Amino acid sequence: MSDAQKVLLVTGGSRGIGAAICRLGAEAGYRVAVNYASNENAANALVAEIKAAGGAAFAVKGDVGVEADVVAMFETVDRAFGRLDAFVNNAGIVDVKARVDEMSGARVERMMRINVVGSFLCAREAVRRMSTRHGGKGGAIVNISSAAARLGAPGEYVDYAASKGAIDTLTIGLAREVVTEGVRVNAVSPGITDTEIHASGGQPDRVARMQDLLPMKRAATSDEVASAVLYLLSDAASYITGAILNVSGGR
Ligand code: NAP
Repeated sequence: MSDAQKVLLVTGGSRGIGAAICRLGAEAGYRVAVNYASNENAANALVAEIKAAGGAAFAVKGDVGVEADVVAMFETVDRAFGRLDAFVNNAGIVDVKARVDEMSGARVERMMRINVVGSFLCAREAVRRMSTRHGGKGGAIVNISSAAARLGAPGEYVDYAASKGAIDTLTIGLAREVVTEGVRVNAVSPGITDTEIHASGGQPDRVARMQDLLPMKRAATSDEVASAVLYLLSDAASYITGAILNVSGGR
């Protein structure tokens, strides 16, 4: 495997949309660092799958909501691959269905710590490595937002929707901040996508229940979201920065 090969780090890369980004990234020729929080088996299985297909990958454990974990994760990638060309802020959580007037402070703080603070800390570490201001050679960042940022998720999880609103603003602001430093920053904003995140929020039937209400009468697949991410990371998107690309099937 040549050292000239570009390196991609994906937070929450072990399952769902993140795993699809890792697979497509490896197919596109990136060496891939697969971050996960706790499900080591899923991360190791994905790494084995990428390697069996001739790619280079390794798994790196770390909670994006813990600053020391974020710093250690990027340092592990430095040691393993010696460069960072592409970064995807994908790790994210939902919580169980609740109205705002039922939410505890602890719930909202956890949501913001993982989805917002975690994305800021990871973006900071990526920019420190990519930006020409810091001696880097440039790079591309994609943040995973959600259609919930536009829709608000009333009665379900307004805290989650608001966290994704912050991701949209991070994308616009950071893109403009580093636009002359060789770093492009964009967001992909998926609609309902068929992953395990819905079960983790106590709604395993959410995709089946919602699909008739969606314009295309179906949810997105993780691959459909991942292909938009790979496009924004690629040189084909060289004049695109600060964009929020809806991958929401007309929703
Ligand atoms: P998922 O299937 O639940 O997978 C979540 C991934 O994130 C797993 O790899 C998990 O690791 C990891 N993760 C969770 N908390 C983490 C933390 N604190 N630190 C590091 N990694 C963590 O989720 P998904 O549906 O693919 O969602 C991925 C992204 O897309 C999220 O940002 C989500 O908000 C966004 N999104 C999803 C949908 C949808 O309908 N699915 C729609 C719009 C936007 P473990 O395996 O170790 O648990």
